[in-house]
Amino acid sequence: MNKNYTSTRDNQIQISAKDAIRKGFADDGGLFVYPELAKLKINLNELKDLNYSQIAQKVLATLLPDFTEAEIKNSVQNAYQNSFDTTNITPVVNVDNFHVLELFHGPTRAFKDVGLQMLPQLMKHVLKDDNKVMILTATSGDTGKAALEGFKNLPNMGITVFYPHNGVSEVQKLQMQTTNGNNTEITAIEGNFDQAQTNVKKIFNNQTLLANIGKKISLSSANSINIGRLIPQLVYYFSSYVQLWKKGDIKFGDKVNFTVPTGNFGDVLAGYYAKQLGLPVNKFVVASNENNVLTKFFNSGIYNRNLPFMQTVAPSMDIQISSNFERLLYYKSGEDTDYVQSLMNDLETSGQYQVSDELLDSIKQDFYCGFSTDQEVREAIQSVYQKTGYLMDPHTAVGYKVMRDYQKLDDTPMVLLSTASPYKFANVVAEAIFDDVPDNSQQIMDKISRETEIPIPENLKNVWHLPVLHDDVIQPGQMAKYVESKVTEEFYDKN
Ligand SMILES: *Cc1c(COP(=O)(O)O)cnc(C)c1O
Repeated sequence: MNKNYTSTRDNQIQISAKDAIRKGFADDGGLFVYPELAKLKINLNELKDLNYSQIAQKVLATLLPDFTEAEIKNSVQNAYQNSFDTTNITPVVNVDNFHVLELFHGPTRAFKDVGLQMLPQLMKHVLKDDNKVMILTATSGDTGKAALEGFKNLPNMGITVFYPHNGVSEVQKLQMQTTNGNNTEITAIEGNFDQAQTNVKKIFNNQTLLANIGKKISLSSANSINIGRLIPQLVYYFSSYVQLWKKGDIKFGDKVNFTVPTGNFGDVLAGYYAKQLGLPVNKFVVASNENNVLTKFFNSGIYNRNLPFMQTVAPSMDIQISSNFERLLYYKSGEDTDYVQSLMNDLETSGQYQVSDELLDSIKQDFYCGFSTDQEVREAIQSVYQKTGYLMDPHTAVGYKVMRDYQKLDDTPMVLLSTASPYKFANVVAEAIFDDVPDNSQQIMDKISRETEIPIPENLKNVWHLPVLHDDVIQPGQMAKYVESKVTEEFYDKN
């Protein structure tokens, strides 16, 4: 009973939410989805007097029916009660003729905290008996630190993060290297993010290694396709609506639009789920950087992942494969798992697929898509700061530009999701607003805070002063050995 989830590629699969969280993705390579999502409803009227945690409990109870009420309550409390710097968790700020939903008030200052503070808490209720889990994560910057903060010091869980030695910003590197906690392992690799990612995938299939670490310990990932990360992200869509309603900016039942800076399509997909559950939304504006695979798809119906990879000023969105898009294809095709399977086969064999006109039209009813160049990002940061004093990070600025394009077509109240603190990408921000930029990152942060009077978040200010606890650098080929040497029964005795 309670096997509510299936795979995007095979509707014969039936699995509980707990098992879906434990496994991450389906054996057939598909993603776990809840069929007939629109039959579940959240009663908006009941949310008006609830705080963020209470809204979170309602949303999670609806989509994770095999968790007990106590398990959900405990998970929500542990995830959010001390880790965010504001009681609203995700506050809405009015700027000009749009609203900004700030998702960066968590421990690592990027929106990934919302999902990654919750996933480990849910995982705790999924592990049976004295089984143990090791989370393996390859990161290009934000995910690694957010996962470390979520999993550190939890009993029976451990986390190992691999990052490219020269591929992350100075602040991002220090954020990871200074992580405390007795179940965290962090190492740089002499290689790029793709090599880290590829080797992590190989480790999951390394039968010798799996046999050596023993039956009681399993390996898992904190990837953004896990429903334990996706579902907590619905909550801020509901919460922002309630905040606007209570402030009188909208009336109950009014439609709103959301603009979402997009990479893996997890954030904006969560919004679409919220709409299915009854949130009054007209359009989702999907904003990409120069890696504009999705914009090309919206214009042609063809998804082509073989476009040149661009390194941009919004690096957390430098992605060619928006994994969570497969879930949208599932719902928009009328839950036709054979059709999704055939598209994914095409992607695998030829690097692209083409959807029917009908499917593309159906997607366009809910979504608009565009992209920003790096130059447009810099101009956006500069002009919004000049005009309003509001300082955006480069990812948020990608969204801003596409939002302005769309607002020419539709004047529905607009919420722009802000996915990172400007201090996390201080160099790009400083170049956009100052003529003279100091040459080291610490001085840049100080100058921004002096001139803008926006305080530096404590947990970013501290990285310059905390001791470096993890300075390993290994070759990509040594990653499996590294994991094997760390993952022992004794490792878990420290907790
Ligand atoms: C991960 C990330 C995004 C993209 O979110 P997706 O869910 O992958 O679409 C945008 N901005 C920042 C700062 C991020 O870290």
